[in-house]
Amino acid sequence: MSENHFDFLVLGGGSGGIATARRAAKYGVKVGLIEKTRMGGTCVNVGCVPKKVMWNAATIKEALHAAPFYGFEGADKVTYHWPTIKKNRDAYIARLNGIYNNMLAGSNVKSINGWGKFTGPRQLEVDGQVYTADNILIATGGYPQIPQVPGAELGITSDGFFDLAELPKSVAVIGAGYIAVELVGILNTLGSKSSLVIRHDHFLRTFDDIVAHKLQEQMVTDGINIVTNSTISALRKTENGQIVVVTNHTELPPVDTVIWAIGRDPSTKGIGLEAAGVSVNERGYIKVDEFQYTGAQGVFAVGDVTGNKELTPVAIAAGRRLAERLFNKQEGLKFDYENIPSVVFSHPPIGTVGLTEKEAIAKYGKENVKVYNSSFTNMYYAVVDDYKPKTFMKLIVTGKEEKVVGIHSIGIGSDEMIQGFAVAIKMGANKSDLDNTCAIHPTASEEMVLFM
Ligand code: NDP
Repeated sequence: MSENHFDFLVLGGGSGGIATARRAAKYGVKVGLIEKTRMGGTCVNVGCVPKKVMWNAATIKEALHAAPFYGFEGADKVTYHWPTIKKNRDAYIARLNGIYNNMLAGSNVKSINGWGKFTGPRQLEVDGQVYTADNILIATGGYPQIPQVPGAELGITSDGFFDLAELPKSVAVIGAGYIAVELVGILNTLGSKSSLVIRHDHFLRTFDDIVAHKLQEQMVTDGINIVTNSTISALRKTENGQIVVVTNHTELPPVDTVIWAIGRDPSTKGIGLEAAGVSVNERGYIKVDEFQYTGAQGVFAVGDVTGNKELTPVAIAAGRRLAERLFNKQEGLKFDYENIPSVVFSHPPIGTVGLTEKEAIAKYGKENVKVYNSSFTNMYYAVVDDYKPKTFMKLIVTGKEEKVVGIHSIGIGSDEMIQGFAVAIKMGANKSDLDNTCAIHPTASEEMVLFM
């Protein structure tokens, strides 16, 4: 067999591709992974990981506000030096890139550096070299969208956010999803005069109203200028180099930085999908079935390029199950896309799993859905006189047995508490299971087992 023939070739060295390649290699098959740039993909290089570092920075700033009330005199006067965190964050990411390279080598996955393109069924070319494989995984991820409006190039995307050398004095973030609310929250907390421009009257429209609306109220309290019902018609540069955002009904005051956060597109251009016999849906995502199969013999896809729940752990879990099925005889194994928990790293954070109230009513009927709400001020703020953001929690149940079908929470700690409750939902918990669980006091999560 040719040296360039593999049992399994992976196109794309992001979280999904790396995890799948390593799991396959564990079963002794010959695995190669093609990646042109740094290992780790979006999540490690320009996504979850550096974003969480910046969210941590903003969370420390919030703690500094509370600190004088806890006796740390002068803590609220501490100044912020953005270049320090940028340097430390970049160094951390570079370390992670190295760790991924070492992990792949240690797992016996051959790294092939370059741009991979299908030149036939189960055949890829990288810099003139032809590689073939019995099975190929497409895990090429996605990239941020930029709209077609005059001056769009004056704005940056989430990729550019991580290149910013200084904290912008003023910023306008455009978009209404995870990335928009996370970035505007970080920048506002760290001290940028911040606007968020959205097309409708509220953001995170696919989330339960409780978390979306309460976050919006908190953002207004925190000084973010939320510009609603606005479509961007153009960006324009002023004489002093600032940027004016022109909407369908107004012009915003000039800002230093504009960030597009209007969604992401799948990375499918220039990889020869036609030659592979792989088709895409009307939104450009690679079509796969529940087994990540593209319909082209031996070709599979996972992660953002499939457009199905664009979350790192989803890509990893789906990919690992695929590897188990292909190389460890785990027939029928597939990822269950139901009840995927997720967190929005906003200020305060949101944790969510299962159906929203609207989805539950649509699925089970209004008469079969009961909703429990809880709101309180976290004890953390008890001694902080001038800042008391509230926590809101919602439990959605259905049927006589009150089966839990959705949990939504906003408030400090929501990011860490939701994982355990996701296990409960996955196990089919009823509200009585939560009621029968002893509370841990004093915590915010105890409210999840004390709903009345
Ligand atoms: P999303 O698709 O989640 O949200 C983008 C939103 O922007 C749209 O839903 C839309 O909302 C709005 N929008 C679309 N086009 C325009 C436009 N031309 N002008 C203004 N607004 C527009 O994309 P993101 O880029 O925020 O995130 C991509 C994915 O990455 C997420 O879906 C998520 O899966 C993942 N992610 C997860 C994170 C986490 O787990 N914490 C963090 C970051 C990303 P509307 O229709 O209301 O206008």
